Amino acid sequence: NMAVGVLALQGSFNEHIAALKRLGVKGVEIRKPEQLDNISALIIPGGESTTMAKLAEYHNLFPALRDFVKMGRPVWGTCAGLIFLADKAVGQKVGGQELVGGLDCTVHRNFFGSQIQSFEAELAVPELADKEGGPANFRGIFIRAPAILEAGPGVKVLADYPVPSNKYVDSSSAVESQEEKTEPEGKVIVAVKQGNLLGTAFHPELTADTRWHSYFLKMVDEVGEGTSNSISTVDGE
Ligand code: GLN
Repeated sequence: NMAVGVLALQGSFNEHIAALKRLGVKGVEIRKPEQLDNISALIIPGGESTTMAKLAEYHNLFPALRDFVKMGRPVWGTCAGLIFLADKAVGQKVGGQELVGGLDCTVHRNFFGSQIQSFEAELAVPELADKEGGPANFRGIFIRAPAILEAGPGVKVLADYPVPSNKYVDSSSAVESQEEKTEPEGKVIVAVKQGNLLGTAFHPELTADTRWHSYFLKMVDEVGEGTSNSISTVDGE
């Protein structure tokens, strides 16, 4: 009997709550810091990360969100939510936006371009493989999607994706010439796990396929099992 919170400031929080419901789990809308005390895990949805960050700041949510991550509670960020969880974000205007952090990654906020460069793609995700052990595929929906350019040694890569050859570069968001140099070739990372943190650059909540939500709920179960009464005793540092 676990309560999973969904940050409900902006973006696709209703879709996450609907996906949880299909798995028999009640998603709790989170808008205030004190509401984080009543949940064992949190999903940060996709949306627009600058807007979401402004609203989170207005509601004084950042310190509580950082504590939640540090306590070792499971947190899953999809798209804008992934940006929230990253330690570092590039591809944005000077000053950027406040981040929660915790995920030892550098994300590029709009790596795959603007709205019209949104796409769907078949991803190979070994972690979602069925019992037969065959390679699992997941159809990812990428909307103004970010990508992870660099990940630290403690980060497990769950899926990557080739950089599109016709990749659109938004010159208005490339604020430092240095950032242009970090434009990778080959592949970028689009799904990761680091301890209690899960990040996907795409939107599983916009599909009927609930395997990522099941995967996250398994992470929540595992944290719950490791502690007898309260998971707040887990020291994430
Ligand atoms: N690139 C977007 C941002 O910066 C994220 C897009 C999304 O969540 N669909 O917030």
